[in-house]
Amino acid sequence: MTDYDVIILGSGPGGYLAAERLAAKKLKVALVEKDDVGGTCLNIGCIPTKTLLNSAKLYAHLRDASSFGIEAEGVHVNWRQVMAWKEEVSKRLRRSLELTLKKAGVEIIRGVGKLTDGHSVIVFPVNAESDALQPSLYQAQTSQSSDYQSPDSQSSNSAFMIRGQKIIIATGSSPIIPPIRGIKDNPEVLDSTGLLSIGEIPSSLCIIGGGVIGIEFASLFSAFGSSVTVIEMMDEIVPVMDSQMAVELRKALKNVTFMLGTKVTELEGKKVLFENKNGEKGSTEADIILLSVGRKANIEDWGAQESGLEIKNRAIATDDRMRTNLPGVWAIGDVTGKSQLAHAAYRMAEVAVSDILASQNSERSNQIFVPETVPWALYSLPEAAGAGLTEQDARARGYDTHVIRMPYKVSGRFVAENGFSAPGSIKIIIEKSSERLLGIHLLGAYASEQIWGAALALERRLPLSAFRNMVFPHPTVSEVIREAAWSANPLSGTHIH
Ligand SMILES: Cc1cc2nc3c(=O)[nH]c(=O)nc-3n(C[C@H](O)[C@H](O)[C@H](O)COP(=O)(O)OP(=O)(O)OC[C@H]3O[C@@H](n4cnc5c(N)ncnc54)[C@H](O)[C@@H]3O)c2cc1C
Repeated sequence: MTDYDVIILGSGPGGYLAAERLAAKKLKVALVEKDDVGGTCLNIGCIPTKTLLNSAKLYAHLRDASSFGIEAEGVHVNWRQVMAWKEEVSKRLRRSLELTLKKAGVEIIRGVGKLTDGHSVIVFPVNAESDALQPSLYQAQTSQSSDYQSPDSQSSNSAFMIRGQKIIIATGSSPIIPPIRGIKDNPEVLDSTGLLSIGEIPSSLCIIGGGVIGIEFASLFSAFGSSVTVIEMMDEIVPVMDSQMAVELRKALKNVTFMLGTKVTELEGKKVLFENKNGEKGSTEADIILLSVGRKANIEDWGAQESGLEIKNRAIATDDRMRTNLPGVWAIGDVTGKSQLAHAAYRMAEVAVSDILASQNSERSNQIFVPETVPWALYSLPEAAGAGLTEQDARARGYDTHVIRMPYKVSGRFVAENGFSAPGSIKIIIEKSSERLLGIHLLGAYASEQIWGAALALERRLPLSAFRNMVFPHPTVSEVIREAAWSANPLSGTHIH
């Protein structure tokens, strides 16, 4: 049996950041991972999707280049190369991450970790027959700890136990499979991971679920020429978005058919049967059906509940310092259900690390995780991003709001690079009396790169005047934020950029 200061289960953004930071403080850290280091984000999430979306953006720009004076002939998609580039990006980033972790002194242990109590983890080998993991989990549960081998014998096929003073759970999330008739074992149905390794661009794609992941894939494949249909049960796409901005985004996604307020009732091979909220039934067919109705915390296959962890809303319950109910055990990232974003996982990791370091001196850290100030970004074409409250949320919370709207075309750079008819706008929500910022929402090119500034202003509880009194570089698309701030000032009249 091997002892560590901290054992971390899962090497996604939450797990790897925590591992590196703790090892940098000279703690002995074990990072247990059953799959590729880097987790969902690096291998089957953020990075591969953004790499593909960039290829789609390049393709779309080249097709539309003539109005910018560039005649590009014979532009076509080499899907094999698109996929090869996607693989290359993830592979190189993964290698670099592994090196960073090793250099920091983190011990990466390959296997499925199972928490047995607040201080020990059994690691089960991952092998080609890993579908048979479940039975072996149960077998090992009933064994004596002395039967387990040490991590040094990882190459053998036996489970082994490691002990840690502290444990961080960062096991992430996986796609939800809803109980729709005809879904199970249907080869035409893929989740986001499956769609990331298809051999050719489908001529038609039906996406069940119009959330962030569904809309990014809708953008991607419609840009590559697939005929895309999105079926969404709610009345609007992307629930995290301000609903007015969501309508704008939907209209901007030109080659996508949306069926809102519509529930998929059954699948028959490539055929998707649905019913809308008026009770009208219908069906559509597609080469590929993408299932993207949300993700669930990974708590089931490694015995979270059996180990005594409190489960709330199907995720591991934590306080704002990421402590679980078990002393010495923290949980971070998607598995907590607090947010399903990589940067939120990073922040939760920082908060947990700070608390673990403080706990070495029997103290509590003053760092906490505040979900309300976490910005989000949607890398559709066009992009969207937001931070803080939507107009609907602000009203529901009883704020007397003032809303500022401004089209992106007030930015000279935006027009120069995107043309006069490209979609793009900003929406700022402030509290009327104090002019305090409540929410900032962006739609258009570079939205994902601009939102951090908005998030900072919101986190610091700044008033709108903070943007008025700041100098922005010119010409930039970000100037739209400053323009919008000035437009709400009675002294202001015109837009000068
Ligand atoms: C298609 C897609 C696109 C996305 N795009 C974005 C984006 O652009 N921006 C963004 O912020 N977020 C994005 N996300 C979400 C983002 O990937 C997650 O929020 C993030 O990866 C969560 O990090 P995590 O550390 O909590 O868990 P994960 O990254 O899910 O990592 C968990 C790791 O734990 C391992 N694991 C699980 N159980 C065990 C066990 N018992 N023993 C050992 N290892 C275990 C898993 O193999 C996995 O490697 C996307 C997700 C998807 C699916």
